[in-house]
Amino acid sequence: MMTQPIWPPPPRTIMTPGPVEADPRVLRAMSYPMLGQFDPAFTALMNETMALLRRLFRTSNRQAYPVDGTSRAGLEAVLAGVVEPGDRVLVPICGRFGHLLHEIAERYGADVRVIEREWGTVFDPEDIIRAIRQYRPKVVALVHGETSTGRLQPLDGIGAACREYDALLVVDAVATIGGVPVNTDEWLLDAVVGGTQKCLSVPSGMAPLTYNGRVERILAARRRIERGIRPPGGGDSERPFIRSNYLDLCQLQDYWGPERLNHHTEMTAMLYGLREGVRIALEEGLEERFRRHRLHERALVRGLEAMGLTLFGDPACKLPVVTCVNIPEGVDGESVRAMLLERFGIEIAGSFGPLRGRIWRIGTMGYSCHMRNVLLTLGGLEAVLLRHGMRVPAGEALQAAMEVYEEEQAAQAARQA
Ligand SMILES: *Cc1c(COP(=O)(O)O)cnc(C)c1O
Repeated sequence: MMTQPIWPPPPRTIMTPGPVEADPRVLRAMSYPMLGQFDPAFTALMNETMALLRRLFRTSNRQAYPVDGTSRAGLEAVLAGVVEPGDRVLVPICGRFGHLLHEIAERYGADVRVIEREWGTVFDPEDIIRAIRQYRPKVVALVHGETSTGRLQPLDGIGAACREYDALLVVDAVATIGGVPVNTDEWLLDAVVGGTQKCLSVPSGMAPLTYNGRVERILAARRRIERGIRPPGGGDSERPFIRSNYLDLCQLQDYWGPERLNHHTEMTAMLYGLREGVRIALEEGLEERFRRHRLHERALVRGLEAMGLTLFGDPACKLPVVTCVNIPEGVDGESVRAMLLERFGIEIAGSFGPLRGRIWRIGTMGYSCHMRNVLLTLGGLEAVLLRHGMRVPAGEALQAAMEVYEEEQAAQAARQA
C-alpha cells in the first residue's frame, strides 16, 4: 500500500450515505468572520435560518431550528423532550437506525414496544397503524430513510392514525431531507429531524429539526429555566423536567425564539454553513433536487446491473439516495472498498449488523450526486472488480449509465420543444 500524507486531506469522491462531499459554497461560507451570539447581524441569521428550514421541511411550524451536535443529537433532543419515564413508545424497526430510536427512548425511561421486520424491507403502514391501535403509545418513533438497508418507509396514513389515537409521530428524516420529499405538515408529522452531512452536503455537526404545537405543549409543561438565569420566583416545571440540559428543547427554543434566553453558545461557523446549504437546496428547487437524485440513482443502478451485480433489498421501497449492492460470492468486499479508495480516491460504504460483509452501500446524495461521480464510481468499481478476479462484462456499465443520461437529455429536449 502506498502511504499518503494525511495533511492536507486528500481530495475524495465520496459516494457513501454520509458524510458526503460538502458544497464548496458551504465551505466558503464557513470561513467568514465570527459574530457575537447576540450581535443583531447574527440573530438575524438565526431567524433567517429558521425561515429557510421551514421551507425545507415544508412546514408552517413555529419551531424549526438546528440542534448542535450530529443528527442523533436531534433525535435524542426530541425523545428527551417528549418521553417521561414510563411513557409508552412504539418503534418499528427494520434496520440500524430503528434500533437507535429504541436505544435512545429506552435511555430516557420509555416503555418501548418494538415491531420488527427483516432488514431490506419496510413496514406496510397498515401494520404500524395496527400496532398503534394495539399498544396505544404516547409516541411513535420511526425512520423515514433507513440508510443501513437503503429502504424508504412509506408514511401514508400513519400521521392521521397518530392523531386519532393521540400519539405523537416522531420521524428520523436524517437521510431523506433535501434528497427525497419530506412533507411535514401534509403528512401530519409532529417532529422531524434532518441531517446536514447527507443530502444537504454540509459538514456534520448540526441536526436541523422542526416540531409542532402538539410537541410544544408537552415541552411547556416540562420547562425548567437554568438556575443562574432564572427570574426570581420562576423557573420550575409542573411535570418532571427534561433530563438533559444540553438537549433541552425548551431552553433551545427560548434561545432561538424572540426571548433569546441564553443557553449554549451557538455554533457560528456551522450556522453559516447550514444556512448556505439550505439556501442552495431551495435555490435549486426541492422538486428539481428530488428529480436530480432520481436521475443519478437510475444511471447508477443501470450501470451496476449491466456489470452483472445485483441489488439488495425489496425494490418496491428502495431509498433513492442509497443503493445497496450484494457483494458477489468469493469477492472480499472490504478489499474492494480499500482498492477503490486507494487507487481512485472513491469511497463507498459497507453496512452494519446482519448486513456486515454482505452488501456495499453507494450513496448519491446532495453535492456528491452528479453524473461525473456516478460514471467515475462505475468505472472504478469495474476496474477493481476485474482486479479481484471477477468476470465483469468490461465497458458495459458505463455504456448503460451513459444511455440513461442520453435518454434524460432527449426527454428534456422534448419537454422544452
Ligand atoms: C446518518 C444517520 C443517523 C445518524 O446521524 P449522525 O449525524 O451520525 O448522528 C441517524 N439516522 C439515519 C437514518 C441516518 O442515516
